Amino acid sequence: MKLPDLFFDRIAAQIGTDEARLLLKAIERPSPVSVRINPVKNNCISGNFQVPWCKYGYYLDERPVFTLDPDFHAGAYYVQEASSMVLWHILETIAPGGNISVLDLCAAPGGKSTLAAAWLSGKGMLVANEVVKTRANVLKYNILKEGHANVIITCVQPSELGRSGPTFDIVIVDAPCSGEGMFRKDPEAVSHWSVQNVETCAVRQKSIIADILPALKEGGFLIYSTCTYNHEENINNADYFASEFGMEGRHIPLDESWGISVIEGKKTTGYQFFPHRVRGEGFFVSVLQKTEVNGTKGFGSKPKTSGISTLPPKSMECLKPWLKNEGMVVFEGSDGLIHVIPEAMLTQVDSMFKAKVYMLSAGITAGKLTKDVFIPDHSLALSHSMSTLLPRVELDKTEALLYLKKQLNTIRSGTKGWTVASYNGNALGFLKNLGDRINNYLPNEYRILMDLPTDITAL
Ligand code: SAM
Repeated sequence: MKLPDLFFDRIAAQIGTDEARLLLKAIERPSPVSVRINPVKNNCISGNFQVPWCKYGYYLDERPVFTLDPDFHAGAYYVQEASSMVLWHILETIAPGGNISVLDLCAAPGGKSTLAAAWLSGKGMLVANEVVKTRANVLKYNILKEGHANVIITCVQPSELGRSGPTFDIVIVDAPCSGEGMFRKDPEAVSHWSVQNVETCAVRQKSIIADILPALKEGGFLIYSTCTYNHEENINNADYFASEFGMEGRHIPLDESWGISVIEGKKTTGYQFFPHRVRGEGFFVSVLQKTEVNGTKGFGSKPKTSGISTLPPKSMECLKPWLKNEGMVVFEGSDGLIHVIPEAMLTQVDSMFKAKVYMLSAGITAGKLTKDVFIPDHSLALSHSMSTLLPRVELDKTEALLYLKKQLNTIRSGTKGWTVASYNGNALGFLKNLGDRINNYLPNEYRILMDLPTDITAL
C-alpha cells in the first residue's frame, strides 16, 4: 500500500522516523479480527485470546463468513475492532456500577453504542445518535439485535441535542476524522487523506464538541475519540476543549503491558493505539470532565407529568402473553407502534418527546395493536423484554440460515400460530406456523442476501 509521503513526514516528525517505519510495516500486515460477545445471549463463537482491555472482547484466528453464522444475526456478538473496545475499560474506570445516562453522539454503525449498552446491562439509559439517516438505520439494526430496552436511537444534529434539554452523565464523541488509523483496514481512507482534510476535520470536531457540551452534566465526562494519529485532531483538540469549555483532563490508569502510548498534552492526556504496538487499529481517546456549568439543567428538573400515554387495561390484556413487563412502561408512540421502556427512563423519554427530538426508536418496539389484534415487531423477538412463555421452535443451522434467507417453508413443530424461531437458544425472529407452511416475519431488509453454499449442512 502506497501511503502519501507527506503522511510519513508528519508521523515521523511526531513519533520519530524509526517508530514511523515500524508503523508503516504494521500497516502492511493483515488487520486482526476481533469480536465482542454479548454477555446476555448464548455464544458459539470463540477466540483463544482475550482483548486485554475488554473482558468480552476476543481475537479470532481468522475471519469467518459472519453472514453464515445465525448467532451473528441473533446479536450474540458484535464484530468490533479491538482498540476501540478500550471504551469498556474507560467506563469501568470513570463510572463503576453504571446506573447512569450515556449519550453516544456519533454512533453508527454502533460499535461504541453496543459496547455501552452491554456495559450498562439494562441499567441507566443510552441515547445513540447518528446524524446521517442511512447510517442511523444500520445503527438501529445493530442495536435492536442486542436486545436492550434502555436504548433510544435518535437522528439529529449535535446542536439540536445540545439545545433540547436532556443532559447526560457521559457523552461519547467518536468523531468523524481523517481516518489515518484505518489505512490498513480501509485502504480507501488513504485516497481521502490530505493535510487540508486533517485541518477540516479538526475544525469540524471543535464545532461538534461546542454544540454538544450543553448536554453534558456538570461533573460529567466527555469521552472523545478518533481513529487517527495527528495531534491536530487528537491531543491539541482535547487541550482546546479543556481551555475553551471549562473541562479538565482525566487520567485513565492502564496496564503498561497493553502497549498503549500515553500522550501528555498541555491540559489533557491522550491514549494512542498504534498497530505496531497493540493488536488493533490506530485509535486515540481522551477523557475530560466538565467542571463548569453552562446553563443547562438535567433530566431531574423536567416536569413530572408525562406526555406519554400508557395503554388502557384492555390493550395491556392483549399484550400480556407477549411481554415480560415487570418494571417496564408500555406505551403507544406517535408512530402507532407499541414501545417498551424501563420505568426509570420514563421522564427522560418524555422530555425527548416534548423537545421533539427525532427518534428512530425508543426502547423495544413491541409491535402494532389494531382492534385488539397484536402483530409483534422483529425487535421484540431479539429483545430481553419478550415473554419466555411464547411457543418456540429450535432450528438446526441449515433451517436457521434458510429462515434468515426467507426460504424456510415448514418447521418441525406441532404448535400452530405465532412462534419464535430460535437457533442455539437465541431468538432469530417470529414466524407463524400454519401447519403445512409458515409465514416468515423476518423483515425483508434484514434477510441474508448472499447465496447460501450448496452444501450448507457442511458449514
Ligand atoms: N462510533 C461509531 C462506532 O463505534 O461504530 C463510529 C463513528 S464514525 C467514526 C463517525 C460518525 O460521525 C459517522 O457515523 C458519521 O456519519 C458521523 N458524523 C459525520 N459528520 C458529523 C457531524 N457533523 N456531527 C455528528 N456526527 C457526524
